[in-house]
Amino acid sequence: MASGSSSSIPDRQQIARQRLRIIAGHLQKPLDPSDGDISARECSAPDKQPGDTTTKSVPRRRQEVMKWNGWGYNDSRFHFNKKGQAEFTGKRYKLSGMIMPSLKEWFEGTFGANVQHKSVASAVPSPGSVKPPALNQAFVEGVQSAGVPFSSDAEDRVFRGHGHCLHEIFALREGRVGRVPDMVVWPNCHDDVVTIVELACKHNVCLIPYGGGTSVSSALECPLEETRSIVSLDTSQMNRILWIDEKNLTAHVEAGIVGQDLERLRPPAV
Ligand SMILES: Cc1cc2nc3c(=O)[nH]c(=O)nc-3n(C[C@H](O)[C@H](O)[C@H](O)COP(=O)(O)OP(=O)(O)OC[C@H]3O[C@@H](n4cnc5c(N)ncnc54)[C@H](O)[C@@H]3O)c2cc1C
Repeated sequence: MASGSSSSIPDRQQIARQRLRIIAGHLQKPLDPSDGDISARECSAPDKQPGDTTTKSVPRRRQEVMKWNGWGYNDSRFHFNKKGQAEFTGKRYKLSGMIMPSLKEWFEGTFGANVQHKSVASAVPSPGSVKPPALNQAFVEGVQSAGVPFSSDAEDRVFRGHGHCLHEIFALREGRVGRVPDMVVWPNCHDDVVTIVELACKHNVCLIPYGGGTSVSSALECPLEETRSIVSLDTSQMNRILWIDEKNLTAHVEAGIVGQDLERLRPPAV
């Protein structure tokens, strides 16, 4: 609250109420496409074309850019070059491409670790090694007729069957894949989510929302004893900014937007 120090408590309450009224007004008002680029009518804004990577940082097949059994991007990791010096790979970060001659010594000295020690990770599980999906046919048909993209591909399911807790990552590295979702759905907008939730209630299907998959509280693990079909609802394709209210420093964005897209898609003046 920028103006907090000089105003009294009733004044501040008044200001807070006014702000809430403005936000409520935004949320209730039908979106007007003539408001400009930033105002997208939900579900009717142009969606990405096949092969187009300009509008979304995270593709549906996130394993193409993210490590399937580790933290972060596939292309970004520490590597020891022929001289034994640490280098950071990729092009995403300021650190990328840099050589850090003292890192190995510091790492070994500080942690007593030996960088020669390697624990080789298991390969990506072959589709045959993952338990076949328990699909709820009526739910699948409903999703299909609503035009919502979905997959029951083993890799897509395994990728969404865990978060980023140490024990989850180690299980993957050691080739231990437990119960994973039976299907992944990628809603494009709020109305798609409403449809999916209605179908799940109607057909007795479990939904697990999936954002960035970085949970460190085991929140994305599928209960072993669950016999109903489990569906991972991946919000990564819902990344639009619906409106920005500069005066009140508020914005309405879709649930799956990541910080990079928020920065990239905002209008230059904001
Ligand atoms: C290396 C590392 C560093 C981290 N550092 C921090 C830190 O500094 N501060 C911090 O707060 N956290 C940190 N975290 C934890 C993690 O990033 C947060 O828990 C994160 O906010 C989870 O968001 P997510 O979108 O990845 O959620 P997910 O992991 O995808 O999901 C987490 C839970 O939220 C539910 N969920 C996801 N999306 C929705 C939705 N749209 N609607 C309803 N439910 C939903 C899921 O079903 C699940 O139960 C860190 C994690 C890692 C791996």
